[in-house]
Amino acid sequence: MEIRENVILAPYTTFRIGGPARYFCEVTSIEDLKRALQFSKENNLHFFILGLGSNILVSDKGFGGLVIKMGIKGLEFKEGNEGSIMSAGAGENWDEVIAASVERGHSGIENLSLIPGTAGAAVYQNIGAYGVELKDVLESAKVLDIGSGEIKTYSNKDCKFGYRNSVFKTNKKQDLIILKINLRLLKNNEPNLNYPDLAKMFEGKKPSALEVRNAVIEIRKNKLPYPAEVGNAGSFFKNPTIKTSNFQFLISKHPDLKGFDQGDGTVKLSAAELIEKCGWKGKTRGNVGVSGKHALVLVNYGKGTEEEILDLAKEIKNVVRDQFGMELEPEVEVVGGA
Ligand code: NAP
Repeated sequence: MEIRENVILAPYTTFRIGGPARYFCEVTSIEDLKRALQFSKENNLHFFILGLGSNILVSDKGFGGLVIKMGIKGLEFKEGNEGSIMSAGAGENWDEVIAASVERGHSGIENLSLIPGTAGAAVYQNIGAYGVELKDVLESAKVLDIGSGEIKTYSNKDCKFGYRNSVFKTNKKQDLIILKINLRLLKNNEPNLNYPDLAKMFEGKKPSALEVRNAVIEIRKNKLPYPAEVGNAGSFFKNPTIKTSNFQFLISKHPDLKGFDQGDGTVKLSAAELIEKCGWKGKTRGNVGVSGKHALVLVNYGKGTEEEILDLAKEIKNVVRDQFGMELEPEVEVVGGA
């Protein structure tokens, strides 16, 4: 494992934005990871675990510590009668994990197809799409506890999942690193077709996991700008959730707003809809803008900077607050800076 100096991070992110990492390495084993952590400790450096860079906005100033690119691979299946436990190294490409699962006839993660990122990041972020979240299928995760040096097993409950959140993300001490994830997959599971795009496509049918996967891929390709087309980090903001009473008040003023009852006295709103209704879909600001395909995706047209994206995000937050009184929170994590 080589530790390099002054590595520009932009090419390692799907936004294609970001200055240099003071130190950078790629780890493909637990031993490599331990050596990298030792280096950061000896040199009193912060470290940052990088996956495929698909949910981060790296500072133009770069990152003054050690970036550790997670490259631990490996796919395994423990087959049972009704399904299997599928294990994936934290550095596996998430979409390739799904491809391998449906190839074996398993279901559970097909709705999460084509979300860019690694298997480890899928747990860290509790990714979700089309009514499925990672937390619905996670059996456990193998984790390095840096404090004790021990490798531990975190159960689903230990992961303390929330909306696009987990204990790994909220852990301010940064002493837990996901090494491997174990997913509980089923055979012949009832497909989750609750979302309108999927429901329309499969009306009256019971598609296989592979058919659902292919449909999700087709829908996403049509609806979302892909990083190969234009720099972006997927949904920039989270969908806001508000009390049902506040939602009643909101729709008294904006009767056509969509709201999804969460069954716990709260209603989820679509951040994309709020931004679109403010007229910001497709707007450009210098080298960056709001995608014309999807209002939740901020894009870098090539020469965009972190500062331009943050300024644009601020403008959007302001207009949404002015028009709907709603506070948008970023889903994308900002990395590095002064
Ligand atoms: P869509 O199907 O047009 O739906 C628009 C919004 O309505 C979404 O915010 C979605 O919430 C919500 N929604 C729709 N049907 C729902 C239902 N039956 N129950 C609860 N909520 C419902 O959404 P889209 O923009 O094309 O995205 C499709 C899926 O991909 C969504 O789940 C979205 O979150 C996901 N996605 C993820 C990323 C990413 O980068 N992580 C980027 C784009 C889209 P939710 O967003 O909470 O599902």
